[in-house]
Amino acid sequence: MSAPQRQSEANQMNRRDPSYRRGVSAGSILRTVLEHGPVARSTIARLTGLSPASVTGHTAELAQQCFIRELPQTTRSKGVGRPHMPVDLDISGYLVAAVHVAVAHTTIALLDLRGRVLVQHQEPHSEAEPLAVVSRASEILARLLEEHSAGRVPLGLGVATGGWVDREAGTLVEHRLLGWRDVPLRELFAERTGLLVEVDGHSRALLQAERLFGVARGRNSVMHLFIGNVVDAAFAAGESVHYGPRSQAGAIAHLPLAGNTEPCFCGRAGCLQAALSEPTLARRAFDEGIITEPEFPLLLETARYGDPGALRLFAERARDIGRATAMLTDVFGPELVVVVEPGVMLLDGNLSVLRDEVRTRAWSSLADVTQTVVPTGFAPDSILAIAGGSVILDALYRDPLALLAACEDARSAQSSGIHA
Ligand SMILES: [Zn+2]
Repeated sequence: MSAPQRQSEANQMNRRDPSYRRGVSAGSILRTVLEHGPVARSTIARLTGLSPASVTGHTAELAQQCFIRELPQTTRSKGVGRPHMPVDLDISGYLVAAVHVAVAHTTIALLDLRGRVLVQHQEPHSEAEPLAVVSRASEILARLLEEHSAGRVPLGLGVATGGWVDREAGTLVEHRLLGWRDVPLRELFAERTGLLVEVDGHSRALLQAERLFGVARGRNSVMHLFIGNVVDAAFAAGESVHYGPRSQAGAIAHLPLAGNTEPCFCGRAGCLQAALSEPTLARRAFDEGIITEPEFPLLLETARYGDPGALRLFAERARDIGRATAMLTDVFGPELVVVVEPGVMLLDGNLSVLRDEVRTRAWSSLADVTQTVVPTGFAPDSILAIAGGSVILDALYRDPLALLAACEDARSAQSSGIHA
């Protein structure tokens, strides 16, 4: 039997398992409380389609596990009838830990259950060797937990990075710019932190974050584009983000950008990543004498000061992202496209350039692009921390009871000295 068949059989068995169904219902209630809280149980029943008795049972269990709390105030409709006791998320009991590995640095952070960054630290790679990076990040995380958790229990550690990450195997399969291959990130971080660890690609992780806390709430189909040192995409339909075998979906780095001749390390020319990535843009700016060092942060800073040459390069990049967006929109037909790219997020006019290009190039008839193509609403300085944290927060809002059980397993394995 192939791995996908085994997986599908396991899923079907899971779905018949009452504890699986209980966990999924608890997850749907917790998501409703996140989005609508403070909210009455009767409203939760209406929004989730669960019976009032089932909602009462699940909310009692979620309250007992400190995921939600009953609000002290009670309100009555026109002073008559039974009082409504709204419930809201309880953010005082737990937090999640986050690590994001970028090409030049690692971000280590703690987030609350609303996906808000409580504290973060950015550590440049002194050497980009996997064991050194993981060990250093784990040390910093231990310090952040000691100084900032304020009694809140960490539910787990989410690790996100670019490139190809196999979520199920817990492995970074390949990240060409870091020079990493087949790095068992989940195992390495679990050994060093003693926490429950999940790993994922950052575009998928951010797509989950947008659906839980950001601009994609309530949208049915969403495409996420991440344009940084690496170029990645992710796609979600209904409740689920598409992974594909070994989590390879979304690898758009080597799709061709029409008319572009930038050489790519893969041997071809005009690949999206070669054309759009930060090193390419920084090198072009340096060659044109716009900046004195070929460093992307310097280019972004120069553009923010209004340098016409730097602004032109970002506008060209926005136009090219618009072309790629049009092509991908024709393939997937998403209801919403969320773009993470500093120029579009921070420089006036770039978003319009991108949208104009999508409007002109896409064959599919799009609704108003000002509504369907949007930048992320997350602050640029918190986005990497949110990517890491969302890997665990996604698991929490899918099935809080299963996450809590896995978290307790990890803690008892840690205290008995067993490492998975
Ligand atoms: Zn290529």
